Amino acid sequence: MPGTIDLHLHTFFSDGTDSPERVVTLAHEVGHAAIAITDHDNIDALPVAQPVADRLGLELIPGIEMSASADNTEVHILGFLFDVTNAPLLAHLKEQQARRVQRVHEMCEKLSQVGIRIRAQDVLDLAGQGTVGRPHVARILQKHGYVTTLAEAFQKFIGPDNPGFVPGSPIAPGKIIGLLRGAGGIPVLAHAVYLKNDALIERFAREGLVGLEVFHPGHMPDKVRHYEQLADRLGLLKTGGSDSHGNAKEGAPIGAVKPPYALLEALRSWQAAQHA
Ligand code: AMP
Ligand code: FE
Ligand code: FE
Ligand code: ZN
Repeated sequence: MPGTIDLHLHTFFSDGTDSPERVVTLAHEVGHAAIAITDHDNIDALPVAQPVADRLGLELIPGIEMSASADNTEVHILGFLFDVTNAPLLAHLKEQQARRVQRVHEMCEKLSQVGIRIRAQDVLDLAGQGTVGRPHVARILQKHGYVTTLAEAFQKFIGPDNPGFVPGSPIAPGKIIGLLRGAGGIPVLAHAVYLKNDALIERFAREGLVGLEVFHPGHMPDKVRHYEQLADRLGLLKTGGSDSHGNAKEGAPIGAVKPPYALLEALRSWQAAQHA
């Protein structure tokens, strides 16, 4: 099957600004043959997007981006082609939703101690039924004039070492890898360049990681080559995607990277070999 894919996309079921229907439509318009919607700790976009994908003839595969941490560093693990009814996975996602709501309250409390008054309920309302995260806090800070861009919010108020910072998921990457593999899925380390730590990637590979996101708007050509070589050396599959969060002003748009369909075929072959 010829064509291109995007295996890293966000909707308003996490911190993206577009609906699942719009994400599917935009992916179709840029000519992709297959996509995965990978919301943070959330898979609710899938059933909403599926009818649109079917109508347009676009292949939609189960996807997610799960939060973890290692050595006090945030680690994002993408998951693909898992059983969306797997009970341990769904229980984990429910726990993460509750933890994230609690975290918003803690962040607003910490911000109030430095004179920044935003209401937790406004942040939660903005996230609606989707996964709430720091980008929602950033948007409320922007709305109230405390910052002019989301990046500024992460630099001044809610990034590590900032007054409103509360760490994200304390879950070990190995646990996330196990959950995804237990659900028959494929765990892939997201945007390796943000981790800046190849030794950690080697550790995750020993813990059962299956793939590395090689193609990403944050990866310049030299990094793409570097991570292709690292994936080959560690026996990891390669994936790629735009990591689009909608609203083109912040981050890359859909179509920013166009990895080949063959990468998805390799994921499927790996999965088929597991069950052989
Ligand atoms: P959380 O999972 O709540 O800690 O939020 C992490 C999300 O915030 C990431 O997935 C990105 O979408 C977003 N993010 C992280 N750093 C920045 C930044 N400097 N500027 C804008 N968005 C960011
Ligand atoms: Fe995000
Ligand atoms: Fe991420
Ligand atoms: Zn992402």
